[in-house]
Amino acid sequence: MSKLACTCGKIISDVSDSLPYKASFLPDVNCNPFFDWVIDETQSFVTAAVNGSVDEWLLQKGYGQGYVDLKLSHGSIIHDHIHTKYLSLSRDIFECKECGRVLVELSTKNQFTAYTPDSGSYNRVLDGEPPVDAEDL
Ligand SMILES: [Zn+2]
Repeated sequence: MSKLACTCGKIISDVSDSLPYKASFLPDVNCNPFFDWVIDETQSFVTAAVNGSVDEWLLQKGYGQGYVDLKLSHGSIIHDHIHTKYLSLSRDIFECKECGRVLVELSTKNQFTAYTPDSGSYNRVLDGEPPVDAEDL
C-alpha cells in the first residue's frame, strides 16, 4: 500500500520507512504462537547451520533456488524468515495528521476502520517518542 484515504479526506502516504504516524502491531492472540514459532525455527536453522545444510533447510522451508544462490549471511536469512512471518501475522495502524483519527487495518489486509480521538487532533501516538501527556501537544 502506498496511500490511504482518511475519513476526513486527507490522503495518508505510506511510501517510506520510519513514518512517525504509522505502526504495526501483533495481535495478542498471535504473540505466543509467533514467539513459539521463532524458537522452533531458530533452533531448526541453527541445527542446519551447524550441520552445514542451510541450503537444504531453505529449500525445505519453501525458498527457491534463486534465494539459496544469493548465499546470504545467516543473520540475513534469519531476518528474512522471521520478518516474513511477522508481516503475515501483524497489521498496520496509521494516525491522520489532519484529524487525529487512528486507522486500524482489519484482518483483511488493506482494509481499515477508523477511531476518532476525544481531542479531535493529531496526538502523535504512533511516533517513536510520543508526547508524555496532552500538554506536550
Ligand atoms: Zn483524517
